[in-house]
Order: sequence, then C-alpha cells, then structure tokens
Amino acid sequence: MLVSPEEILLPAFRAGRLVGAFNTGNMEMTMGILRAAEELDRPVLLQIAEKRLKHSPLALMGPLMAEAARRAKTPVAVQLDHGERADVMEQALGYGFTGIMFDGSALPLEENIARTRGIAAPWIEGEIGVLAGSEGGPEAEALFSDPAQAERFARESGCSCLAVSIGNAHGFYRGKPKLNFGILAEIHRRLPDTPLVLHGGTGIPKEDLARAARLGICKVNIATAGFAALYQAARTGEAGDYFALSAAMAAGVYENTKKLLRWFEEIF
Ligand SMILES: [Zn+2]
Repeated sequence: MLVSPEEILLPAFRAGRLVGAFNTGNMEMTMGILRAAEELDRPVLLQIAEKRLKHSPLALMGPLMAEAARRAKTPVAVQLDHGERADVMEQALGYGFTGIMFDGSALPLEENIARTRGIAAPWIEGEIGVLAGSEGGPEAEALFSDPAQAERFARESGCSCLAVSIGNAHGFYRGKPKLNFGILAEIHRRLPDTPLVLHGGTGIPKEDLARAARLGICKVNIATAGFAALYQAARTGEAGDYFALSAAMAAGVYENTKKLLRWFEEIF
C-alpha cells in the first residue's frame, strides 16, 4: 500500500530500526525491490533521483512507482530523491509521491533553509553538508555536516528528516568507508527527535550501519548496489531472450534488496 514516509519512518526511528530506501530506474528494478519487501514483510521507500529522469522520465516512472506501491502488500512510500527543481517536485506530488527530498546542500545555508521551508509536501527530507561522489569531488574533500548548522537547518527549515554527510558517499567507495561517528553523535545529540538519513548506503559495512542506527540514522539510501545488481544479472545471466532477461534483472535487484533488508533486521 502507498503510504507517507512518516508512517514508516517515525515508528522505525522510535524503535531504533533501519528502513531501506531503494532507488529505481525501471519496471524490473521496481518489481525486484517490492518483491523482496513483500517477502520479508518490511516497509520500504521507493525512490527516483531527479538526475536519473533523463533516462527514466518522471511522466512514465512516476505513475508506475505509485501504482506499484498501491498494489504492494507491504507499506511503501514513494519519494523523489535529490529534487532540485520546483516543477519536478510538483509533478512528482501530482503522480502520488508521498515524500520529497530537496537537495539544497550546494546552496548557502540561508538559501537551503528558505527553499526547504518553501516546499509544500507532507514529508520533506533536507540535506546539510556535501556528499562525496556525485555531489562533489574526492571523498577527502567532502564537506561534512556541521552539527551547529545541522541543528539550525532542521529547526528553521521545518524538514521532516535530515540527510547528513559524515564520510558517506554516492557510488562505490574506494577502500573502506570511514564514517565520522563523532559528528553523527553530535548531530543526534542536538536533534534527538529528528530522523537522520544516510545516503550512499552501498558498501557501508553492517557493523557501521548498526552503530549509525544507534546514533539517529533511521533511513539508509541504496541506489548504486541496486543498479549494479541489475547490470550484473543482465550481463551474466543465461537469458536467451528478452523475457528471461527481464526476469533476471528483477531477480538481481530482488536478491540485493533482500540481503540489505535482512541486514537491517539482524542489526535490529
Ligand atoms: Zn543521495
């Protein structure tokens, strides 16, 4: 069933549980993600990033995602990921998306606050600090979230949850990711009631996810691992025709989603 991220994330946050937010790019990915969620009976967020819309147009993917969520046997929230343009956010809400992530992390703090506050969505994820990978340069140059700025941003923007930059990165990590748990602990101390979001969940070790869950992280975004799983399945599958290929892509994403959802359960 299609629900608001609030219905999934607030109970999870209170219980100290992690929720998977899985990005999709096509029908097979969407089906693989939701099959795993249904099988393990876990709520999930289904997301698409604004920058992916040139490959997967929102006018086609939006209705598909919302309908897949409505038909799912488990609660599914549908969210625009890294939204920047007002017209895209409005379009997403029109297709039934229940959450919007506004990425103003590259803007000056005042402007990020003002633009986040101005979004008319029932659930808004904001971001403070710049992530390595697709948002910036090498990991070493990433701008970690400043706890004082994070506190001010959350209080003044009225965001529902907050994505942080603590050494996490989009894409694959070069080497072992080094999360700064000191910064995370300080943000959580200042904002004990705000669910925190970890982008770049692909490749973060299970023990680090467990530690993050104890310091306010509630939502973990998984994009790269899903796309890689689909690609791997398509490349190495024995698929002799399109229909087998389609099934293989969905199965690859299903296995990846199931593995991560199981991790989250084991941590809990
Ligand atoms: Zn992200």
